[in-house]
Amino acid sequence: MCFIFNSRIVNNFFLLFIASLCVVSCGQLDSLYDSDENESTAVDIWGQIMDEPAEVFVAADLSDAVKNGIVTGLAKAAEVWGNYGPVEYWVLGTEVDAANDLSELYCERRSQRGDLYKANCLAHNQQSDHGFESYRKVGYDAIISGQASTSMGRNGARDWGIHRFTSSYPIGFDSVLGATPKGEMITVYHEYFHAVQHAFIFSLDFDERDKKMGPTWFVEGGAVYMAELFVRKMLASGDLVMTDNHELDTFKVSFEFKMHSGKQSINTECPGTLFQDITYELACSYAAYDLGAWAIAYLSDLVADENALLNRFYPKLDDLGWEGAFQAAFGISSAQFFIDFDVFLNQDIETQKLILSDL
Ligand SMILES: [Zn+2]
Repeated sequence: MCFIFNSRIVNNFFLLFIASLCVVSCGQLDSLYDSDENESTAVDIWGQIMDEPAEVFVAADLSDAVKNGIVTGLAKAAEVWGNYGPVEYWVLGTEVDAANDLSELYCERRSQRGDLYKANCLAHNQQSDHGFESYRKVGYDAIISGQASTSMGRNGARDWGIHRFTSSYPIGFDSVLGATPKGEMITVYHEYFHAVQHAFIFSLDFDERDKKMGPTWFVEGGAVYMAELFVRKMLASGDLVMTDNHELDTFKVSFEFKMHSGKQSINTECPGTLFQDITYELACSYAAYDLGAWAIAYLSDLVADENALLNRFYPKLDDLGWEGAFQAAFGISSAQFFIDFDVFLNQDIETQKLILSDL
């Protein structure tokens, strides 16, 4: 399942990003296919911290800057949040031949591992909404049109025992179309945080996984907040080194923009919709990202722990379920939180920004 993204003002000109950061498992779709191999008998290591780094596969037409950016981002995010895996991160460029070669590599791997029939895998990559061709086309269309646009997502696959990501051309690492390396780094952290979220849910049942992941604002708000916060923290501490000259907005400036754009999105695209009822399917779904990030900031401030999600919430999730873990982590019910947060959303921005770190 995918969605939207992101209008943002960069250096006083307006860029439209249509980045779809897919998070909901596409395992249901994959389960339509049987595999060439027998079921794996390997031990299920889901949710355990591991030593092996993420495996990154990039199309041959992409630059070293792109590959290094993805590899570095996944490694650094794993360094600070825990190295969950196994992660496979597949990155498309813009050229058809390179995309087909990457698809061949991917589908041969799926066949060898007993995940999919190779022929079905290749057909899926050509035709599906989440197939490699669809991701190649996003990057190709961005370059042809001159309009910045990216799409990436964690598309399963618990049933294969991996976190599988697919990405269109991450233009920021090449500093094209107004996108920047540090901005792209936030996107890589965001995606990896979805792997972290999924690592804390053990079930193979799609519906149980979906329920435990929680509402859209919580899933996406968590990924936005954690990525925006920890890229800045690691840049400030020197734990993440990036040498390009494009500096990020401060954390507070970034969140001020999110407050404005989230409210505007609801008002213009889903008037009357409550923040907590926004789903990926709604036209204002990106408000779940913007205001969801504020919600996580609010909850973190409530317990005076900027890393409350990983320190308090996710370790309790599998045992207590989403609402139980929410109450245990933050000390209030989600129903009470929605009342309190609605009051917070109506405060002035200078008061709201007091809960944010200076980064
Ligand atoms: Zn996301």
